[in-house]
Amino acid sequence: MAEGRIIKAISGFYYVQSSGNVYQCRGRGIFRKQKITPFVGDFVEFEAPKPDEGYILAINPRQNKLIRPPVANIDQVILVSSADMPEFKPLLLDRFLVSIEAKKMKPVIFLTKQDLIGEIAQRNLLDYQTVYEQIGYFVELISGEEQEISDRLRSYLTERVSVMAGQSGVGKSSLLNSLNPSLQLATGDISMSLGRGKHITRHVELVEAGGGLVADTPGFSTLDFADIEADELRDCFPEIRHRQGECKFRSCLHNHEPQCAVKKAVENGDIASSRYEHYLRFLEEIYSRKPRY
Ligand code: GDP
Ligand code: ZN
Repeated sequence: MAEGRIIKAISGFYYVQSSGNVYQCRGRGIFRKQKITPFVGDFVEFEAPKPDEGYILAINPRQNKLIRPPVANIDQVILVSSADMPEFKPLLLDRFLVSIEAKKMKPVIFLTKQDLIGEIAQRNLLDYQTVYEQIGYFVELISGEEQEISDRLRSYLTERVSVMAGQSGVGKSSLLNSLNPSLQLATGDISMSLGRGKHITRHVELVEAGGGLVADTPGFSTLDFADIEADELRDCFPEIRHRQGECKFRSCLHNHEPQCAVKKAVENGDIASSRYEHYLRFLEEIYSRKPRY
């Protein structure tokens, strides 16, 4: 029996990478009884008498998983947002960050298309870069023409499994193509004209890039917080999470409670007001969502 990682799944076959080789496997054994579907990214135990006649026998416990695209054991999410076209939206960026944090994944922020904006907009983005770096996130400002982009992106990808996320048109496919030209992912007009259909028909595959593996389909298509409770939202903002024990009430949700360390930090400028406003807004969304039966 050998151990490996599923890097591709197509029509009932799972392609398992192990010690530099790829084995075409079918599912068999205990995990079928457990009703677990093997995911790309899963670490598995398998048996392969021949490279194209393998069997997956067991799936190891997962660190995390995404449903769309179906990928397990993701080390990091490359969250891409553009300076312009589409315009930079801090609220949307925070929405993505919360969704990523809620799944216990690590985001890295790439702000693309710097070449499209003027000095004032650039200064504004630098301010946001400071805000997010103070929280502890890595933020990279890039523009598509530079050669160094792929080098900067590569340094994050090495020895990790990454998924790209971000709104359509921000430059995710362009980034991936620059890393691994054999990918030839559709960019710009083509992906827009295909619209949503593109993601429904595509298979997900982990491809080599920068010494790591990247999913060739972006993740986080739903950002509605349907699965996040109010007390979990707190934990999705690292700068709030770190102050959780400092409020008068342990259960503090940092909106109406007295002697709240978070509100104080906002007043002092230690927590960015934009972040706190978005936190309150998301909290409101969670409170006002319809009960699910
Ligand atoms: P995706 O939908 O996130 O995968 O975005 P794409 O990679 O398809 O990029 C959308 C459009 O933006 C394409 O026409 C790209 O050529 C263009 N683009 C990507 N990155 C940059 C950049 O840094 N600067 C400029 N000016 N255009 C870019
Ligand atoms: Zn508080």
